[in-house]
Amino acid sequence: MLIDTHTHLYYDSMKDRIEDVILQAKDNGILQMICIGTDLKSSEECIKIAENFENIYATVGIHPHDSNDVPLNYLHELFQLAKSSKKVVAIGEIGIDHFRNLSPQKIQNKVMIEQMELAYDLSLPIVFHNRDADSEIYEILKNNSFHRALAHCFSSNLSFAKKLCDLGILISFSGNITFKNASNHDALMALTLNQFVLETDCPFLAPHPFRGEKNEPKYLKIIAQKAAELHGVSLDEIEIHTTRNAKTFFNL
Ligand SMILES: [Zn+2]
Ligand SMILES: [Zn+2]
Repeated sequence: MLIDTHTHLYYDSMKDRIEDVILQAKDNGILQMICIGTDLKSSEECIKIAENFENIYATVGIHPHDSNDVPLNYLHELFQLAKSSKKVVAIGEIGIDHFRNLSPQKIQNKVMIEQMELAYDLSLPIVFHNRDADSEIYEILKNNSFHRALAHCFSSNLSFAKKLCDLGILISFSGNITFKNASNHDALMALTLNQFVLETDCPFLAPHPFRGEKNEPKYLKIIAQKAAELHGVSLDEIEIHTTRNAKTFFNL
């Protein structure tokens, strides 16, 4: 059994046929999914989906791209959403994105830190997004409290993975480990089996040979197979460890 730790199931490609998406995932051994919010509206949608399906859990949070557009009372809104359902298992995705820089740097930092404080007060873990922002993210994580943290869609190198692991942070690998030009293979190979989990980040980032198409939770199996191959262990072993890590992290 596998757990997809990062999905955006509220996108049109999946929302309207969600039962089929869940069934196809199940056929491929993916039995639980975390639906990740990126703004207030999608966070609310995650909760709705999680309330409807037993094997789906939700997070609530503001993505760095959306951090410039939050209303003044967004922290209160997130707090209310987090408190509204037992299926909310983390705050996220929060973080920093310097690749696209859709929100000003200062605001991205502020909104990330404020949400870390909220997560801390709520005793929830955080799921963070990091694109071209290794050093800034590291400073923020080092200087602010968190219960548990997950580095979603890890795409940095081994030395950064080690720095995060030293802070007790869990790493999540996505379909990009199946790409030819993957920059994160050394990290995946060097980490121990209790230091990482797996995700699709669907509908984005479909693994090879579906790259460029719409991604879905069912493709997590391809990612798990690649992780097993790189790590030199059986698929079974990858399943057992990543599932256990995800269950512990999200307290499922
Ligand atoms: Zn992300
Ligand atoms: Zn995401």
